[in-house]
Amino acid sequence: LQSSSDRESTLTILQVLGDLLSVGTDRRICYVISKGGSEALLQTLVDTARTASPDYDILLPLFRLLAKVGLRDKKFGQKALEFEALDVTLILARKNLSHSQNLLHCLWALRVFAFSVTTGAMLGINGAMELLLKVITPYTQKRTRVIRAATEVLAALLKSKSNSRRAVNRGYVAILLRLHQDWHSHDTTNSYMLIRRALLLCLRHIANLRSGREAFRAAQGMEILFSTTQNCLDDKSLEPVISLVLQILRQCYPKSPLPLVTASSAYSFPVPGSTASEPPHVLTEEDFEDDGEEEEDKDSDSEDVKKEDDDLETDVNKLSSKPGLDRPEEELMQYEAMCLELSCSFEELESKPGDGLNFDKTQYASHHHILTAASPKGLCLNKDQISWGQEREVPVQTSLLSRVKMGRSNIHLTSKKGPGMNPYRNAQSNGLGIGSSGSEISDIQASFKEDAWDIDAISCPRISASFSNSARPRETAELIDKLLQTHPTHVAFHDPYLYMAKARRTRSVSDFTMTAFPDFWGHCPPPSAQSMLERKCGVQRIKIFEDVRRLIQPSDIINKVVFSLDEPWPLQDTTSDCLRFFSKFESGNLRKAIQVRELEYDLLINADVNSTQHQQWFYFKVSRMREAVPYRFNIINCEKANSQFNYGMQPTLYSVKEALLGRPAWVRTGYEICYYKNHYRQSAAITGAESGKCYYTLTFAVTFPHAEDVCYLAYHYPYTYTALMTHLDILEKSVNPKQVYFRQEVLCQTLGGNSCPLVTITAMPESNSAGHLEQLRQRPYQVITARVHPGESNASWVMKGTLEFLVSSDPVARLLRENFIFKIIPMLNPDGVINGNHRCSLRGGDLNRQWLSPSAHLQPTIYHAKGLLHYLGSIGRRPMVFCDFHGHSQKRNVFLYGCSIKETLWQAESAVGTSNLLEDVSYRTLPKVLDKLAPAFTLSSCSFLVEKSRASTARVVVWREMGVSRSYTLESSYCGCNQGPYQGLQFGTSELEEMGSMFCLGLLILELKSVSCSHQLLTCAAALLNAEESSLDHHLQRCSSNATSNSSITSELDDEPPCLEEIDYGTDSSSDQEGSFSELDRQIQECAFHRDEGEEEEEGPGQGRKAIP
Ligand SMILES: [Zn+2]
Repeated sequence: LQSSSDRESTLTILQVLGDLLSVGTDRRICYVISKGGSEALLQTLVDTARTASPDYDILLPLFRLLAKVGLRDKKFGQKALEFEALDVTLILARKNLSHSQNLLHCLWALRVFAFSVTTGAMLGINGAMELLLKVITPYTQKRTRVIRAATEVLAALLKSKSNSRRAVNRGYVAILLRLHQDWHSHDTTNSYMLIRRALLLCLRHIANLRSGREAFRAAQGMEILFSTTQNCLDDKSLEPVISLVLQILRQCYPKSPLPLVTASSAYSFPVPGSTASEPPHVLTEEDFEDDGEEEEDKDSDSEDVKKEDDDLETDVNKLSSKPGLDRPEEELMQYEAMCLELSCSFEELESKPGDGLNFDKTQYASHHHILTAASPKGLCLNKDQISWGQEREVPVQTSLLSRVKMGRSNIHLTSKKGPGMNPYRNAQSNGLGIGSSGSEISDIQASFKEDAWDIDAISCPRISASFSNSARPRETAELIDKLLQTHPTHVAFHDPYLYMAKARRTRSVSDFTMTAFPDFWGHCPPPSAQSMLERKCGVQRIKIFEDVRRLIQPSDIINKVVFSLDEPWPLQDTTSDCLRFFSKFESGNLRKAIQVRELEYDLLINADVNSTQHQQWFYFKVSRMREAVPYRFNIINCEKANSQFNYGMQPTLYSVKEALLGRPAWVRTGYEICYYKNHYRQSAAITGAESGKCYYTLTFAVTFPHAEDVCYLAYHYPYTYTALMTHLDILEKSVNPKQVYFRQEVLCQTLGGNSCPLVTITAMPESNSAGHLEQLRQRPYQVITARVHPGESNASWVMKGTLEFLVSSDPVARLLRENFIFKIIPMLNPDGVINGNHRCSLRGGDLNRQWLSPSAHLQPTIYHAKGLLHYLGSIGRRPMVFCDFHGHSQKRNVFLYGCSIKETLWQAESAVGTSNLLEDVSYRTLPKVLDKLAPAFTLSSCSFLVEKSRASTARVVVWREMGVSRSYTLESSYCGCNQGPYQGLQFGTSELEEMGSMFCLGLLILELKSVSCSHQLLTCAAALLNAEESSLDHHLQRCSSNATSNSSITSELDDEPPCLEEIDYGTDSSSDQEGSFSELDRQIQECAFHRDEGEEEEEGPGQGRKAIP
């Protein structure tokens, strides 16, 4: 082409190239590019165009080829610059303003040039935008192909910030808005969507500039875009236009700081060793608008950096060397006292073997009918009164193996009832909850009405901070007694009186004087699991338009603060009609509530104590609601970029009236749920980052089950520290002390003055004979911890299941006790849990990043948990398995993270040869076993990579320093499952507890599969298996046969890896799809088809076919 001099051969070559490139794949074009095709075409263009009378027979096919090739050539803009092709194209375009066909071809070339931002900026300098505005006219049905191309070129040019600036200075914003209005109102048949879309795209690019946003608002852009779209929100065909409008409105919505006096937590705690308390981060009105203003025009050559992989530890020395002890060896001796089981002589036991076996099992076997000694009234826990716990069989009563045999748990799966299944629905349809289960409830209802309880009052039964009983306000105590008598409650492993006693010993930073009703009264899981909420199409759009309406139509805006931790209580006048909020109770953390409209409230969550961040967990009380009215709640200071709330997860609700009607339960609730970036920013000064931090809104609607109820709303099923302490006491009393060794002791005191419990569970020796004692002392250890992250209450429910199973009479539990000693720290961060934190301890730090070198004074629970593990190692009793229970906010199901050198190096594609590296692969067995056993568990989400950023987590430190090859993090979704028998269901507490018992069974099978497994255990297990019709055996075979099955090695990190779901809910989505290959290709193809006609083909419907000379 470059060497051809005569017209005929050039035409022929272009013809051949055109034919060659119009079929086949992109590979042909890439080949042409690699052989200098772009250069040849550009050279030909320049040569042809510079002649006195350019030959359009050559230019038109040439432009088509240029566009086609240029699209795929990343350096095309640069090449065009070098060949000075920009100028000649602009000149050609100017010459052909009235010749549509020629102009169209020039525009295609310009559009391809403009893909490069620097080239686009150059075009802008040379007057390309003025030229385009001459072409883009108000609504017409003529030359729409040209108008469309011109609009698209303009949009491409405006990606350059200098072009955008020029456009703002020349007043293009108002012109573009007028054009938008004009096309939008005239194009009633939606025939010219692409032009309308491109016009909006222009505005969106301009809105990237601060001056652009100002010009947009000054030109009434918010009002114009808002009103033009209001009447067509439901029109599916307008989808591309509406989504762009929404993006622009969100971009131009004025940014502001959160409506808080300070970003720091409302609670502060003076910690030892901290520097003088920092001044609170005061939030002031300031400039949030300069995001990226200074940025120069740059081509973003997308560098595909694998960020996750960068985080992988590739230093083999760091991976495989074992660091020394982090403390003086003699310090370890203090932990001897925490392992009394190794030294106890059990003198109370008689030496006759087998004595304990005749113990009357029935007395202890069934935990679910325990009369706790702690209840002074000796409440009659009549089984028949339990109206709705009955449908779901109590898990512990069926043996775990038989449940595995059935392939799933006993949890009743609801037929997928569709979205928004409301467990209260039956209650509502029968009036005030007169359930099918009969008279008891109606009796309760009667008394409920007679007494006309002030149920707001009973939600505050924590009897003052003083410890003495005499200080009890008598009425409250009597009220509670009366309530408990008239509304007998029976929740397994729970006792309200004991809870109150324990609550008095729980120390909070702000000295809570109240207890939340649900924690006090107890929770009984509803009879069926709840489906995930089906997301209604367009729900986010509606919510965002409602938010924008606050600015544009403020007539119904109330904006009244109705609750605030920062203001003296009480804030609300009792006469007003608004909802009442409260959160000063254990794990509660609502900081502020603002009534925005009559039925809409903005809520702000408190930051973690001594911190300015970590808002995710929430728990608060709300009362004074009206019946059958949908309230909208917006939690406006969330921080994560995405949330399971966008994918079917619902918050949880507890109704006091429902509880008094015999249904004390947390249930998933809420609809019209979505999660999106809002207009609140934190100033850069506070975060120390380059630009201000963004916030996200979680919005949900709730229709409360009863009027004038007292309800509690939470991120997930709450599980307080006091609940744990109550639970442990009841567990201890529930066991047969002749069979079960259950010891509860204090690992250490926390910074906040609470005891961190340590639990030891094993089987009592059959007698105190030397042989039996020796057997006990030789049992391997299993160490389980949980709840280092206080917002991960799901971890506590899994732990509850684990503890209850381990002390149960299930034969598997007995075998486990007889063969292992369990050391369990069920709550590593009591202070965080108590004070409503999501992530941190009272110092404001993440305790699961402190395992490398914890301090006895600053991170006592981590220091002593690690010390205990070191001690076990020092006496040669390194645990078989270490597992730390967590909750996961981005992924579904339950899964394990473990540690493997080889997998880490492979994943990182490390140059270090891994072939001669020997690694024990036993870390894979437990996840595989659990994959077969536990309905909620999936191997496919497990990962065994060691990340640099996780070097100080429990999992990595216990693996590396203690040499525990089976060191895990167990992650449970806050949401639910997308596989297995629970697919499509959200987790209830039953499923989480079941996971805890399945984890225990997994530990047994892991042992059976190990070479070190004792003959005796194998025999016992075999007997058990036969009794269970070899179901377990079957499972074992499946496990081993699948030993080589595919297990995806993912690059996700523990705790909170980035969300991998495909939907983008942020405001500044930068994917335009404007440069899609196929789209421009199609235009060109269409045109090429008509090229012989030599006339303009209009896109519009009918008419408009006109030849233009
Ligand atoms: Zn966690």
